[in-house]
This record gives sequence, C-alpha cells and structure tokens, in this order.
Amino acid sequence: MKIFDAHCDALSKLLERPGLDFARARDGLDVTLERMQASGIAVQNFAVYLPERYSGDFRYVLESIDLFHERILRAPQMRFIRTKADLRNAAAEHRIGALLSLEGVDSLHGSLALLRILRRLGLTGVGITWNRANWAADGVLEPRQGGFTAAGLGLIEECNRLGLIMDVSHLAEPGFWELLEASRKPVIASHSNAAAISPRKRNLTDAQIRALIAAEGVIGITFVPPFVSEEEPVAMEKLLPHIDRVCALGGSRHLGFGSDFDGIREWLVGLEHAGKYDRLVNLLLRHYREEDVERFVYGNWFRFYMEHLPDEEAVP
Ligand SMILES: [Zn+2]
Repeated sequence: MKIFDAHCDALSKLLERPGLDFARARDGLDVTLERMQASGIAVQNFAVYLPERYSGDFRYVLESIDLFHERILRAPQMRFIRTKADLRNAAAEHRIGALLSLEGVDSLHGSLALLRILRRLGLTGVGITWNRANWAADGVLEPRQGGFTAAGLGLIEECNRLGLIMDVSHLAEPGFWELLEASRKPVIASHSNAAAISPRKRNLTDAQIRALIAAEGVIGITFVPPFVSEEEPVAMEKLLPHIDRVCALGGSRHLGFGSDFDGIREWLVGLEHAGKYDRLVNLLLRHYREEDVERFVYGNWFRFYMEHLPDEEAVP
C-alpha cells in the first residue's frame, strides 16, 4: 500500500552529520531511499529544521536545501514536488515524491522577502514555530504561552497569498486559535497526537482536533514515543487509540501520519525506521477497513495536497 508521510527531519540530521548516505545507509538515517522503497513510501515531506545551536542563521536553511538537492533529489527514483502537477506526476511515474517544508520561521527574522525566496526554491509548507518563541508566535514550551505578534499575523497573510501550507505542530495553543481565525486556507498539524490519549503539550486537545477537522485540515499522527504513551517502551499498537480518537471526533478523512523519523532518539517498538512502515499498514489492516487504511496512510494527505499545493512554481 502506498504511504504518504508528512514530516521527517532527515535534512537536519544530514546537516549535523554530512557523512550519512541517503541512498545507501542502513544506519544513522531513519529515512533512506532503500527503506522508503522497502515499505512503500510514495511521498515524504522533508522539513528544514535548524537545531538551536545554529541560532536561526538563514545560511543553514539554504545549506539544508542544498543537501535536499545534493543528497536526496539526486537519486533518480526521487521527484521534487512543488506543485499539484508534480504530485500527480510523481504517482504516475512511480517515483517517490519529496516535499520541502520549514519547521519554525526563526531564520526568516521577520523578512517576508526570505519567505518568498524559499517559496521560489520550492518550499510548500511552513511550521510557524518549534518549541520556543520566535518573532512570529510562541511555541508550546514557551512559558509565556502567547499567540501571534503583529509580524506573525503578516506572515499568515503572506503564506495565504503565496499558497504556503501552514503547520500548527509545536505552536502554543493561543496561536493555534489565532491562526485558525486568521487563515483563509486550511492548516495542518503535520506531527501531533491526541492529548486526550496522551496529555502532552505537543498534542492536540479534542477541541483543537475538532476545529482542525471543521476547517478542512489534516492531522498527522506522530511516532514520537512520549507523545504516544506514558509507558516505556511504547509499542506501535499504542498508536491505535490516537487514530480512534481522531476518528471519533469526525476525522477519518482528516487523519494521516507524520512520523518525525530522524527527529527522534527513541522509537516505537516495531516501527524503528521508515523501512518498517509497512508493519504499521499491516497492523491497521487488522483493525480498520482497507479503504480507511488507504486513506489514513496515503489518501487523506494526497487529497489535501492535491487541493492546496500551488498550481504553478511562480510566485503569484
Ligand atoms: Zn517537530
């Protein structure tokens, strides 16, 4: 079965450890070409996330995008997805689609010009914050728990205009509600779970999940063990209550996965890297109808991106 994954941090790992080989490596990277092929990953979103020690230096955003081209897109089996047509063609050509997003706008330092440059370089998604505050809004671990700044509201407006898909994962709750209010387009949570099942700040409350669904967004259930369950170790089966919760809130057509592979240092038992994604598919097939499983692992994200990716590479 085809798989669409909405979030991984392989680029961040490549930035820190340039020796890792995406095309061949069996260890070091969770997401490799071999592993994606083995499990049936058809589309993978690659986030540009700068670890805090890079202190939001835009140079490293550009270097991450260079790594995306040099290490990931260089494999002929991969295809860069910048537009609706790219997504349609990747599926038709049986190539693995690669989406590019930014996790946290810190490195833009308030410059919408830099945002437009990234859009021109093929960026399609924007996570507003990581865990801390930045110039646009507060992240979930910022004690102040504020919402958007005036500059941040300008960012929302420009993302809407440019057709950039905004991501609420890591955003503090006040900002979540402000974004839903201000955005003229649906937003996503690329890698967040249900707080009713696992009460962590990074997870979404039932009210947030309902609101995302009502706004035609999609929620990517994530494999970060502490966001899945308090237990240790956490079995892959513990993802099921999160799926059930989102479905119970009306989200069976608004649910996908965002693994966070290569952004995690502990893994769900049975789901230790991207090559084991097909085991999750098998688990889901034992619990849900096949057509629902197809939507969860691919169809819901595919439908959302086909609707909301830009029509053209050029900036409007
Ligand atoms: Zn993240």
